[in-house]
Amino acid sequence: MAASIQRRQALREQYEPVIGLEVHVQLLTQTKIFCGCSTHFGAPPNTNVCPVCLGLPGALPVLNQRAVEFAVLAAQALHCQVRETSIFARKNYFYPDLPKGYQISQFDKPLAEHGFIEVPSADGGKKKIGITRLHMEEDAGKSIHDGLSDTHEYTSIDLNRSGTPLIEIVSEPDMRSADEAHEYLTRLKEIILYTGVSDCNMEEGSLRCDANVSVRPCGQQKFGTKAEIKNVNSFRFIRSAIEYEIDRQIEAIEAGEKIRQETRLYNASEGKTYSMRSKEQAHDYRYFPEPDLLPLVVDFAWQERIRETLPELPEARRHRMINSYGITEYDAQVLTASKLLADQFEEAAVAAKNPKRVANLVQSELMGRLKAAGQGIEHSPISMKGVALSADLLEAGDISSKILKDLYDKCFASGEDFATVYEREKPQQITDTAALEKIIDDVIAASPKQLEQYRAGKTTIIGFFVGQVMKASKGQAKPELVNELLISKLR
Ligand SMILES: [Zn+2]
Repeated sequence: MAASIQRRQALREQYEPVIGLEVHVQLLTQTKIFCGCSTHFGAPPNTNVCPVCLGLPGALPVLNQRAVEFAVLAAQALHCQVRETSIFARKNYFYPDLPKGYQISQFDKPLAEHGFIEVPSADGGKKKIGITRLHMEEDAGKSIHDGLSDTHEYTSIDLNRSGTPLIEIVSEPDMRSADEAHEYLTRLKEIILYTGVSDCNMEEGSLRCDANVSVRPCGQQKFGTKAEIKNVNSFRFIRSAIEYEIDRQIEAIEAGEKIRQETRLYNASEGKTYSMRSKEQAHDYRYFPEPDLLPLVVDFAWQERIRETLPELPEARRHRMINSYGITEYDAQVLTASKLLADQFEEAAVAAKNPKRVANLVQSELMGRLKAAGQGIEHSPISMKGVALSADLLEAGDISSKILKDLYDKCFASGEDFATVYEREKPQQITDTAALEKIIDDVIAASPKQLEQYRAGKTTIIGFFVGQVMKASKGQAKPELVNELLISKLR
């Protein structure tokens, strides 16, 4: 086993993988791209349909303006150049869930081209992954092969999804490892989520990814023959599928075989890819311009109006947050993982005296507890006002970090906000000097041995006294005050 892993690693060093990704993203419009039917997910089968999306003869498509605006916004966020005039085209093929016998897509004049996404490179810098094109198209329906009472006999068709607006984002073959592909997808999803044009929910099919993978001997310019891995439903599986495919192709070449251009499917439980169909027999789609739709014109003025709605994107936001709040690159990375989390953090950071402390609290105390409870930030019992309040109390020394942890635990147990729990519990710190002196006198009287050691010069034993006093006060004594009083009393 170990020998085969070693051999695989040695072979890996002689070959360079070349990876390109095609990502389909469903746009979050209320209605479909060419008709007024709802795009709501999970409706009973074939209820969100009309003559247009059923492909009935004579029905004419009308382009959804919001879908265009979303597609342009995504293109701008990905640094693409938006084409002023793009053309819808028919992509002809037969499939049971494609009632028209063609899909309306874009071909030689797509909506946008020449974009990029920056990913961290292996040497610690940044690498640009090119985006060849971004185009608009309609989704097909869905074939249902299981889950119904008669699926052993029939395949059923649900056309609710037919005509749902999609953008397809095609990358350049710029990625050189499965990790880079994973990073590209993570950034792409993050950017799209920030723009709000899609929920990128992979389980519901709002984000789908195909990977083109080939290998070539190191130093060779010409690309090897590629295989396309289709419809993998998680980023983690895409990474594994690419890893598997790289090794499979290297092994095949080493064994003197020719790599076939083909479409392959990934079996996640086995961790392997399987040939689905050979591309050599794949049909020619015979694209031609869609005669029922005018050319799509998004002039400069419209593009600029859309650009004004572009929110601050994750990368720019991280830079700004590092500069304005004095947090680390790592903090910023964690805190911008979602737009909502970043918004919430900033709300607390602005309200509190020390933003860095807020960053620490959100990451260690809040997100830790949310993760343990299996909840997202939107379900946090502690509001950002609560986090800011707790940060200020901690900063002022009014509560210890132990009390803060207790209070957070209570918030999560009861589902109440921090201010409510704090007000009720009023974890009074004993700041009354007379009361503290009494406790300290008792502790000193009960510890003659330690007192002797302290007076003999072993001053570090003061820690013992502090501990005893905190214990006697049930954690409610203010540590600075205890220290101060102890020093004067132990003398
Ligand atoms: Zn419809």
